[in-house]
Amino acid sequence: MSDLSTQLIHHPYRPPEGFDAVAPGVHKASTVIFPHVQALRTQEWKDKSGYTYGLHGTPTTFILEERIATIEGGRFCVLAPSGLSAVSLVDMAFLRQGDELLIPDNAYGPNKAFASVELAAWGITHRYYDAQNPADLAAKISPATRLVWLEAPGSITLEFPDLPALVATVQQANAAREGERPILTALDNTWGAGIAFNAFELGADMSMQALTKYPSGGSDVLMGSVVTRDEALHQQLLMTHMRLGLGVSGNDTELVLRGLNTMALRYQAQDTATRALATWMQAQTGVVQVLHPALPGSPGHANWQRDARAAACLFSVVFDARFNQTQIDAFCDQLELFKLGWSWAGPISLCAPYNVSSIRTHAWPHKGGLVRFAVGLEAVDDLRADLAQALATLNA
Ligand SMILES: *Cc1c(COP(=O)(O)O)cnc(C)c1O
Repeated sequence: MSDLSTQLIHHPYRPPEGFDAVAPGVHKASTVIFPHVQALRTQEWKDKSGYTYGLHGTPTTFILEERIATIEGGRFCVLAPSGLSAVSLVDMAFLRQGDELLIPDNAYGPNKAFASVELAAWGITHRYYDAQNPADLAAKISPATRLVWLEAPGSITLEFPDLPALVATVQQANAAREGERPILTALDNTWGAGIAFNAFELGADMSMQALTKYPSGGSDVLMGSVVTRDEALHQQLLMTHMRLGLGVSGNDTELVLRGLNTMALRYQAQDTATRALATWMQAQTGVVQVLHPALPGSPGHANWQRDARAAACLFSVVFDARFNQTQIDAFCDQLELFKLGWSWAGPISLCAPYNVSSIRTHAWPHKGGLVRFAVGLEAVDDLRADLAQALATLNA
């Protein structure tokens, strides 16, 4: 070991003992060194009793998994490189050729796109159901159905479903098909984040989240998770996760761990600000309806009131049909604090116009354009003034 380059690599460094910092260490690895061949052959990572390779977990990713599982009231967690990769992981772990998948018509768009392109190419069919109507789910369950996605509330239009009724519908179908693979339920829990309600108490088998949103809170990292209470489901997810080679970086994991410290406070603050703005918006000229589960009259409000204790930072506005798309687009361009962009639950308020009829199969009752708002951490008075000036231009 006389050569400097060898000494640089084979240094005697060990992580410090007794260094009791508030933040967990950021461990990064592809390679993990084994003490001897016997360990290389037998060390186990699937039950977290050991470390074998970066893709199979580090002390840092194990901590984040444990914390997300705890926040959501589950027992096990796998991390994926984005929320969307967590969605496709669930699909690939549990669906086989000939199976059918049911997705809410108002689900997160890319969840539907993965089913309609990749899953379809692999011989897995899908149908969309009306999440506000459990009878429609019951009617669409077929002998081939193996997985039902749930989402609360729906993306963009924010209808809050009767989750216990949807789960009961699936359980009834399972009771009638003994001895076969049961239909599983997976909830996209990005909106609730484990704060608004407990997905498992409402009956979901799996809870998937885009950690990109609330847990990160910074608009600067992408990550996803799938939490379960059932060990067999977790092991199946873990093995597909391993074979797909999904991994998350130590630095990204650190950012999410840091975000978790303030998540409950951010959720609460953004909830309060969003309700204030949504309520104010309802009274403005040119606005036909404001969609937000906590507003009486918003679709599924009674379900939200019964099953949830908080609401995320999103509300959508349906404008009067006298405004054409060009005028709605100009309204969005006119906003100064609300920036144009995807994602939400970060510090900056965002908005985007949507043509709802073009993204769903079931009838949409409104003719006017829709804009979805994501409220950030700015002062509510400033955000309200920004909305007011853009509305004044729209109505002029
Ligand atoms: C953002 C989002 C996702 C996807 O998360 P990414 O990390 O952006 O891939 C999935 N579901 C919902 C409801 C989301 O809002």
